[in-house]
Amino acid sequence: MKYIKKTAEPPFFAVDTYGLTTWDQYQSRKKRKLKKYILENEQHWLCCYCEKKITLDFNSSHVEHIKPKSSDPINLTFNYNNLLVSCEGNHYNEIGDNRKNTCGQFKLQNFDENLFLNPTVVANIHEYFLFDFEGIISPSDFDKPKAKYTCDILNLNGANNKLAEARKISRKALIKSFGKLPPSDYKKKLNLILAKDDIEFITFLRYVFRNYR
Ligand SMILES: [Zn+2]
Repeated sequence: MKYIKKTAEPPFFAVDTYGLTTWDQYQSRKKRKLKKYILENEQHWLCCYCEKKITLDFNSSHVEHIKPKSSDPINLTFNYNNLLVSCEGNHYNEIGDNRKNTCGQFKLQNFDENLFLNPTVVANIHEYFLFDFEGIISPSDFDKPKAKYTCDILNLNGANNKLAEARKISRKALIKSFGKLPPSDYKKKLNLILAKDDIEFITFLRYVFRNYR
């Protein structure tokens, strides 16, 4: 996970949600407009939790309430700072598995605000996690209870570690893209790539290549 800096609320949001009292009243095409704004301006088209590349398609992403709106509907439902865009948790499902196995759709129950690492609040959120070469995420020593809680409630390794496997594949693909470059060119290219914010699983890649930079 990486820190997401919320921008000022776009004026269209207040207009589009004026007078609404429930999330269901907010029209799909207007939600889509909000998703586009957040993905373009705040998230670089990556899921706010797992950093999978996502699209505007409703099968790919949804507007996510960081703190569930059910815990305080009046203050949380249309609070712009409580909104991000999450994947649907189904990108790496096995054939026939229609469950939403990770991220926003997975975390619906048992939300504990005091334990959850909010990516819009915790500026050094990447320091709370470690990864191994298989792509498995685990808590660092920074604050194990919070990191473990956050990993578990979002299921950040995925069902049967499928999300971890996708991270591992992204690491291999990056290594392959370097081909047989000499070490100096390799480092230069790696640093250019790791400086970008729109690369899928960028926090994982920065972590596993930290000693090669
Ligand atoms: Zn996700």
